[in-house]
Amino acid sequence: MKPLLKRIILYFCWTFGLFRLTRYLNRKKLLILCYHGFEIIDESKFRPKLFIKKKTFHSRLEFIHKKGFHVLSLSEAIDRLKNHSLPNNSVVITIDDGFYSTYSIAKDIIRQYKYPCTIYVTTYYANKQTPILNLADQYIFWKTKETYNMLEYQKIEKSRILSILNEKEIKILEEEGFDIQLHTHRHRFPINDAASAKKEIEDNKAFLEKIVKNRLIHFCYPSGIWDKSHLPYLKSMDIESAVTCVPGFVDDKSNLLLLNRFLDSENISKIEFIAEITGFMDIVRNFIK
Ligand SMILES: [Zn+2]
Repeated sequence: MKPLLKRIILYFCWTFGLFRLTRYLNRKKLLILCYHGFEIIDESKFRPKLFIKKKTFHSRLEFIHKKGFHVLSLSEAIDRLKNHSLPNNSVVITIDDGFYSTYSIAKDIIRQYKYPCTIYVTTYYANKQTPILNLADQYIFWKTKETYNMLEYQKIEKSRILSILNEKEIKILEEEGFDIQLHTHRHRFPINDAASAKKEIEDNKAFLEKIVKNRLIHFCYPSGIWDKSHLPYLKSMDIESAVTCVPGFVDDKSNLLLLNRFLDSENISKIEFIAEITGFMDIVRNFIK
């Protein structure tokens, strides 16, 4: 469906009170929200599905706050899911990858609302401290129509728009109450290759264990790619939960190693965000399955 048509239909459904009804019907379920990078210069124009503007992110949290959703930490949400004690309309906030902008932009907005938040950090570029190479190449081409441009690269390096948090920033985030968790070392999790997949988690964990004190037991599949063959490795490595990029709510029947999430970004309009958080889109998806 064309985005504009979808938004118009959603707007009418909202006007007729359907979102209020679906929020009530979905009240006992949990929605896990997922963010990636936060715009420092113009990244949301470059990759609108990967980045979000500061103003948009702020308006999302303001909506959650004003409309009385309950934001829980991931650990608390999982515990409450297990003992059937989730408060109505529960939400968990997660951030993938650990872009520098998680520290320079998102941190203060999240703290303003005193919301808990889990950050899944991929550590190869946290260690290397250069911009993420393939993203930098694509950004340079998007900006200049050239495959390589030294001046543009230097700007990317200096602004850190495509860089991952360094050790000091990860430490500060943890000290300020953020939950740092696993996302593989090289942002890949091979299928049907147990040794390489396990090594990705072990390297990721070894890097983060030097910095953070909390238990590293929550995992995010890189690029949301998962396979049933992954589940035994994750169990054997004492991973308690793993999140995918499959949209939808979580309930007490969900597999904790295959948790659904909604990926929010600059690409999502306000009415689409409201349709997701109130469960309207979840009910539509289940209806047309
Ligand atoms: Zn990722």
